Amino acid sequence: MKENKAACIMIVDDSPESRLLIETYLRAAGYTHIMQAGSALECYELLNLEERSGAERSDLIIMDILMPQTDGIAALKTLKAHPVYRDVPVLMVTVETGLHQLDLAFSCGATDYMTKPLKQIELLARVRSALKLKTETDCRKDREKVLRHVTAKLTQSNNKLRQLTELDGLTGIANRRRFDEVLVAQCEHYPKLGQFLSFVMIDIDCFKAYNDTYGHQQGDWCLQKVAHLIQTFTVIPQLAARYGGEEFAVILPDCTGEKAVKLAETMRYEIEQAKFVHEASPVASVVTVSCGVVTVASKCILLPAEVIALADKQLYLAKQQGRNQVKFQEINENTNIIVEK
Ligand code: GH3
Ligand code: MG
Ligand code: MG
Repeated sequence: MKENKAACIMIVDDSPESRLLIETYLRAAGYTHIMQAGSALECYELLNLEERSGAERSDLIIMDILMPQTDGIAALKTLKAHPVYRDVPVLMVTVETGLHQLDLAFSCGATDYMTKPLKQIELLARVRSALKLKTETDCRKDREKVLRHVTAKLTQSNNKLRQLTELDGLTGIANRRRFDEVLVAQCEHYPKLGQFLSFVMIDIDCFKAYNDTYGHQQGDWCLQKVAHLIQTFTVIPQLAARYGGEEFAVILPDCTGEKAVKLAETMRYEIEQAKFVHEASPVASVVTVSCGVVTVASKCILLPAEVIALADKQLYLAKQQGRNQVKFQEINENTNIIVEK
């Protein structure tokens, strides 16, 4: 690594002779950016410690321990607690008799130390290794910054990807793929957890006539509105999804038949009350939906396809018996199930 002669070095010492000596040694070795402070307070001012962000004004601080008022240890603590200066190396300078303070200095974050009277060769060796440490720390911080940026971008892309793979492009609710995944998982869970699993299939009534009357774009708008209303009535871990075309599916884990029918009835009612005009519907003058609900008890182990087929059957009955209504079947150990596949 190339030696950084342009590094900015701050000397903090109450003795003008000491400061001059250190500066002379440093300049002789080629260092050009040197600042002097006669006290800790002057050091704080020169480094602009009041500023809690931005770039450091010094790459290395050479700090005398014995100073009147604020001594070197207290100044070191202040610097190490500062967000801008916590990683700037500090070389402590002390007299032979002050060696007992070094323990404290190192525990407060000092990088290295030298004893007075200072020897040029020793000073330069310690300055070089402290500056090398500083360059390495800066490189690591830069790499971490880049890594943080890349990680944030990756998280963003992952979220976008998740949206593309799990959400329906038109309505913004879960798509068929997500629905399939969740239903498979829930069909595995409910028997083990000893819970009911409920499922609702919702189909917009006479939607072909709606498209024929108001156009496909208006049809898309209606699908979005209905999807949004259905979504509004579900909470995690429930899942509302677009099953396909004008059909929606709602998975209700740990939900009894009574609750499922109540929820389906609320959805049906709220969609009707939204009053999306549908003059061509023989059912009502507004958009309505039919719902098929099925609830499976934990002792009856059904496959996802069987759950869907049973709900579909109830939906068919709702259509047959006049639409704009909810039909329900509960599957328990006494049910004689006939699933048409
Ligand atoms: P039913 O009450 O028996 O369900 O009658 P229906 O007219 O709703 O059912 P049918 O299956 O005959 O028609 C469904 C219509 O849904 C036909 C199709 O054009 C429309 N559709 C399916 N997907 C979309 C879509 O993404 N956008 C629009 N605008 N219409 C769609
Ligand atoms: Mg349909
Ligand atoms: Mg329909």
